[in-house]
Amino acid sequence: MNKTNSQRLFEEAKRVLPGGVDSPVRAYRAVGGAPLFIARGKGDTIEDADGNRFVDYVMSWGPLILGHARSEVVAAVQSAAADGLSFGAPTGRETRLAEAICAASGAEMARLVNSGTEACMSAIRLARGYTGRDKIIKFEGCYHGHSDGLLVKAGSGCLTGAMPDSAGVPASYARETLVADYNDPASAEALFNSNRGEVACVIVEPVAANMGVVPPAPGFLQALRRLCDANGALLIFDEVITGFRVSFGGAAALYGVRPDLFAFGKIIGGGMPLAAYAGKREIMQCVAPSGKVYQAGTLSGNPAATAAGLKTLEILEKYKDEIYPSLEEKGAELESAYREAGVPVNRVGSLLSPFFAKEAPASYADVKKCDLAAFAEYFAAMQERGIYVAPSQFEAMFLSAAHTEEHIGKTCSAIAFACGQALKGNG
Ligand SMILES: *Cc1c(COP(=O)(O)O)cnc(C)c1O
Repeated sequence: MNKTNSQRLFEEAKRVLPGGVDSPVRAYRAVGGAPLFIARGKGDTIEDADGNRFVDYVMSWGPLILGHARSEVVAAVQSAAADGLSFGAPTGRETRLAEAICAASGAEMARLVNSGTEACMSAIRLARGYTGRDKIIKFEGCYHGHSDGLLVKAGSGCLTGAMPDSAGVPASYARETLVADYNDPASAEALFNSNRGEVACVIVEPVAANMGVVPPAPGFLQALRRLCDANGALLIFDEVITGFRVSFGGAAALYGVRPDLFAFGKIIGGGMPLAAYAGKREIMQCVAPSGKVYQAGTLSGNPAATAAGLKTLEILEKYKDEIYPSLEEKGAELESAYREAGVPVNRVGSLLSPFFAKEAPASYADVKKCDLAAFAEYFAAMQERGIYVAPSQFEAMFLSAAHTEEHIGKTCSAIAFACGQALKGNG
């Protein structure tokens, strides 16, 4: 495969961008080599700067559930952009999008922001303001964006780059973040007991997807709900990945557990920078200007971004009875291809991770046992066969409505080959 242009662009980038990228997960540190620079995408396919084409399972890390450059979404953005890119004054689309998010999730009010990081950070500030408490509980290996208090034992790029605790976060501040074990409610209960009356909230990925996909064990989310209720703390579901993906109503609907607050992002922006936090009216009313918890944004509720998000949610709602069952089917096909190749998989609908390990992980400790050299071989073999997956064992694969049967078939053959190579090399 010719990577001349990507290599040149990467050399140029490294001179002005730290590590040559604007987000660490884009670099190929864990697998080696230069990242592909992408020129364009359509449907389930991307084309790099050298004209190589790949079936894409990164899908911008989750937002593109309808595929790249879906025509209705592009048209909505073009039309909104022609009317002005930003006003810093309210527009009707913001209300429509908040209504759509609330209708699907069961939240009563929402505040639009620009990134999942902002959504999680703001939801936590709100939980602290509402409860008058400072401490929070998160789970090791879960990622909730890069705000200071959440870069403690974090997943995603922090895990890939072996820096779960970022430099630059004051120890005094990190002490307010208590860390429990995913799928182990007793570890959260112990933290509640040793910090009585001090915990404002528990924040959790209802399906962990930033240490590779690790589904919630039966009863885990329900136990967190009970613990929060018993201790006067709020439960925050970080549905930045799972919202509108694991079901139209997200993980809360899928598992039948209602959080007090949600963080949304990725899909609700349809590929544009947009996110939201949402929840019960009584709590959301505490946000300024109706309440005393301050949070603001020059570009929040941006016209082009809300147009992309609204159109995406509109299409998902209209075709949900076809889209979600079809995503489930395609996910199941990929899952069996990995299993047949001897690689265990965790999967919730269109969200899945193959693991180079003896069995599919149920915890962060299990995830850490994966064979990363085998993953790197698998990654290279997949790319060579025209399949673009995330350059890390600790990330999810994302399916979209645009993935064709033909490309799923091609992917299954690549999986058989790439897993075979990886397991042979490291058997
Ligand atoms: C991606 C992600 C975030 C952060 O969103 P950004 O838009 O990258 O800031 C937060 N939480 C989860 C679960 C995510 O996957």
